[in-house]
Amino acid sequence: MFEDGTRVMMADGRSKDISELRANDYLMAEDGAPVKVTGVIKDSQSTYEIVHKTKHRAFEGEAATNDPLRKIIYQRLSFNCTLTHDLVLRTPAKPMIENDFTKNIYRVRYRTLDKVNTDDGRIINIPKQHKKYFKMTPEGKTDAENFRDEMERQCGEFLNYNLQVRDLDLMMPLLRITTYLRFSPLTSGNGVLSQFLTGTKHLNTKAVLQMAWMLGLWIGDGTTNEPQITVDSFDTSLIDALNENSKPWGIYPTYKDEAFASRCKHVSLHYGQEAGENRVYRNLRKNNPFWNVVTSLKFKRDGDGGKQIPTFMWSEDEEVREAFMAGLIDADGYVCKWTEKTGNLKVSIQTIYPSIMNGIVHISRSLGITATVTTRSSKTITIRGRQVQCQFTFDCNMYGSERLQNILSYCHSGHKTRPVPSTISRDPVYFTFLDIKKGINDVYGLTLEEDKNVLLENKTVVTMCTSQCKNEHFKIKPSKYLQHCIACPHKGIKYFYKNWSGTAKLCGRCWQRYKFSGYRCLNCNFVPEAREVKIAKAKGEGVGLTPEGVPVKGYFCRRCNGILKYDGVRGPKRTKEETSRKAKVTSVGNIQ
Ligand SMILES: [Zn+2]
Ligand SMILES: [Zn+2]
Ligand SMILES: [Zn+2]
Repeated sequence: MFEDGTRVMMADGRSKDISELRANDYLMAEDGAPVKVTGVIKDSQSTYEIVHKTKHRAFEGEAATNDPLRKIIYQRLSFNCTLTHDLVLRTPAKPMIENDFTKNIYRVRYRTLDKVNTDDGRIINIPKQHKKYFKMTPEGKTDAENFRDEMERQCGEFLNYNLQVRDLDLMMPLLRITTYLRFSPLTSGNGVLSQFLTGTKHLNTKAVLQMAWMLGLWIGDGTTNEPQITVDSFDTSLIDALNENSKPWGIYPTYKDEAFASRCKHVSLHYGQEAGENRVYRNLRKNNPFWNVVTSLKFKRDGDGGKQIPTFMWSEDEEVREAFMAGLIDADGYVCKWTEKTGNLKVSIQTIYPSIMNGIVHISRSLGITATVTTRSSKTITIRGRQVQCQFTFDCNMYGSERLQNILSYCHSGHKTRPVPSTISRDPVYFTFLDIKKGINDVYGLTLEEDKNVLLENKTVVTMCTSQCKNEHFKIKPSKYLQHCIACPHKGIKYFYKNWSGTAKLCGRCWQRYKFSGYRCLNCNFVPEAREVKIAKAKGEGVGLTPEGVPVKGYFCRRCNGILKYDGVRGPKRTKEETSRKAKVTSVGNIQ
């Protein structure tokens, strides 16, 4: 069952809160087909947050302490469900041969889906890793290769299975960190834009796509209260494209140079022929088909009149979504990587508007492109002696190969456009995830007419409920492999290292920082970054107490105002003598 507030994808491409669903509603199945809801159940159970594992750690660093807005991680792929809900998982299982020269053997590592008895008497399917040994002889090598091929034939490259949230803990750490959930792109759409422009749904002519591109460009660099777009005049291909794309709609882009001919031109999209000698009418807003779309389809919000990406765009027809994103990239995007060999691309779009950030993320995912959001605090910077105020900004980062390249093929800006890729796959995108315990919440479950996977609003593929979902269940054992970092709130199952005393664990990041700088807080175990150490040094030394009550001298900890201790020798070489020597140097009594 899912927590109240979980948004599910309906068959028509809109989304609804799970608590609003009723029997006979239709959801969108993973294959895009509609699937009927036959019943709704409600309960109160403890929930778990299933969340995309990214490298973001919004709570770390100085920026996060100073700016509360940066403590939020925006638009991470996640959903909250109960402990007994089934997840749709995949684990790679390609068998491998390893050479072990010390033991003179070939070791074949392979993974299979095994039946396991749980402590509460259920039989579940869970992936397990196995090893088989062969002698290091020519015959042994052939046997090993045959065995590997046989295993690959039996189990395939991937294990696909469903597993309840509570059973994730039974997985070996190595397998758990390579286990993936998936999100699935949308191949169909609602055809709202073409219906508005042509009267027919899904009639995505060249002109409709040109309109979609202009809308994207306006969302990026347009003026909120009139059909005007700011364009870099050095980018001649972009200006040409704007002329070209607006022509089918009877729109003539014009701009006036101001007293200072600046590089940025404010291009107005006039409707109707250019005014001749006799001053024939020429309209900016009236009857202007572009402005009609902007206002009628709510690209301009009611009320405050701000720019937004209306939610129908999230599930528009595929080409419309692509053309729209291309316009947005032409305006505000930055294309970072392009390696001819791997074809991997990264595009980032900066925006200060949350609605535009949401739209970018949803449309990217609907096209099978991974999207994450990072943020920048507001600040004042100096450019060529002038003070410039930068607002709080969202950096929307999109990663992909040929799917992203296909969007860029609609772009017109000189250095952003790319050729149309030869093939485009619309396969699901896989991502690793964490499971984090939450409190007791209202939960809703749905039963479906067919046994199919369905999509959430964020395109994550999920199952609907089975009978075990109805009642609250608890974990029989506490998590077997879960580890906690003593220096930060991070929890995980892999990449933890022994701390300075050897009795507790540090996460990979804190461990790296500690090894690099050698500073740690005696009071709260915090490991400062090099930059924070610098700030602490600038503030100067002071006297504080160790947790045992011994006075010590040192720099202050940013987090708790305790005293930072410096370890000259770190890692396994550190000896007891070293520890006591350091302790003497820092103790106030000895210095005097
Ligand atoms: Zn359920
Ligand atoms: Zn840590
Ligand atoms: Zn501290």
